[in-house]
Amino acid sequence: MTSSRVATPAALQCRICGAQYAVEPLTICEECFGPLEPAYDLQSVDGEKFRADAAAGPRSLWRYEQLLPGGPGIERVDLGAGFTPLRKADNLGERLGLKRLWIKDDSVNPSYSFKDRVVSVAVTMAREFGFKAVSCASTGNLANATAAHAAKAKLECYVFVPEDLERAKILATEAYGAKVVAVKGNYDDVNRLCSEVAEALPWAFVNVNMRPYYAEGSKSLGFETAEQLGWRLPDHVVVPIASGALMTKIHRAFSELIAVGAVEEKAYRVSGAQPEGCRPVAQAFLDGATEVTPVKPDTIARSLAIGSPADGIFALEVARKTGGHIGWCTEMEIREGIELLASTEGVFTETAGGVTIANLKRMAEQGIIDPEEETVAYITGNGYKTIEALEGYLEPTYNVAADLDEFLALLNG
Ligand SMILES: *Cc1c(COP(=O)(O)O)cnc(C)c1O
Ligand SMILES: [Zn+2]
Repeated sequence: MTSSRVATPAALQCRICGAQYAVEPLTICEECFGPLEPAYDLQSVDGEKFRADAAAGPRSLWRYEQLLPGGPGIERVDLGAGFTPLRKADNLGERLGLKRLWIKDDSVNPSYSFKDRVVSVAVTMAREFGFKAVSCASTGNLANATAAHAAKAKLECYVFVPEDLERAKILATEAYGAKVVAVKGNYDDVNRLCSEVAEALPWAFVNVNMRPYYAEGSKSLGFETAEQLGWRLPDHVVVPIASGALMTKIHRAFSELIAVGAVEEKAYRVSGAQPEGCRPVAQAFLDGATEVTPVKPDTIARSLAIGSPADGIFALEVARKTGGHIGWCTEMEIREGIELLASTEGVFTETAGGVTIANLKRMAEQGIIDPEEETVAYITGNGYKTIEALEGYLEPTYNVAADLDEFLALLNG
């Protein structure tokens, strides 16, 4: 089902043994069962031209097409994901004692999470490969993004989710016209089922048989951060971890920018954030382990609730290699993190963003982040999707009759 128009990347390459394969719907190395990822001919990419092309390109992730799957000239499935605000977060920085803090605000994508980036790439490639139906196993945001892009591409869409997911995420997926398969079980059960369905049916599963392409979309968050800083890299990034792909791909984006000469070479640290109720990677980091032991997730941060993270060992490697950290926060700190970001910067994030902010706060308090370090925290989803998390935590300040005297008495009392 390959098409001759699929120009870049040059090949798929095994992340363990380096064996190369054609650009096809493949995920696993036949030699060593390692995961495959796209490999680019970085020698042929000129850093200056990369920057100029970005400046002249669309206001979406596709402005970085030279280092994304599909490459120039391909017909894209593009709802405008990406090129989201990088916000200088002085109010939050002041509260945390950090002098140079930025928030990369991916809560404002077309379906309100960073998953629009990965899905735009995966569905583009699925259509290019000739698939007629797309599908995914999702913790929620991926369901929304896949359904939205499938609608735009006029592809059939089947979305597998744990049946007890947040209502907003399930209902929106249905509104986009996808067929929702609500599975009795957690995300890891859903994922196992999808791997079996992917063997049985000729569907493009964005995060199973399309995974090498899907994950590449995350690099655009790294490219954008550099471009929005004026084509330079920050000192430290703090990234939420579910499968670990986003964290490893931000690192890959930075190293590719250095390799092609689009930014000056410098040291930077990549840190990860998990919730206490699902912290397999953070626990492995703390223990000094090289393996990640799967857990059974129990957290309000549903979008991060992957107990057996596919890229966990790579996320560990990135944190260790760059001098970063991987931590966790309590369930109450997730709510506090959501409130802290909204009340200081006017950005209302979902539970995953609460995890990022809570971990940022812990790292600042523990001196893991230096006050002078230029730090970017990744806010990957929108708070209006996980409103349940604040139920019973935040209440109206005043409950009054429609009566001025009663209100004034309460206000002054
Ligand atoms: C999926 C997701 C992540 C993490 O993605 P991985 O690449 O699987 O680690 C982070 N934040 C939100 C809101 C997500 O939906
Ligand atoms: Zn291999």
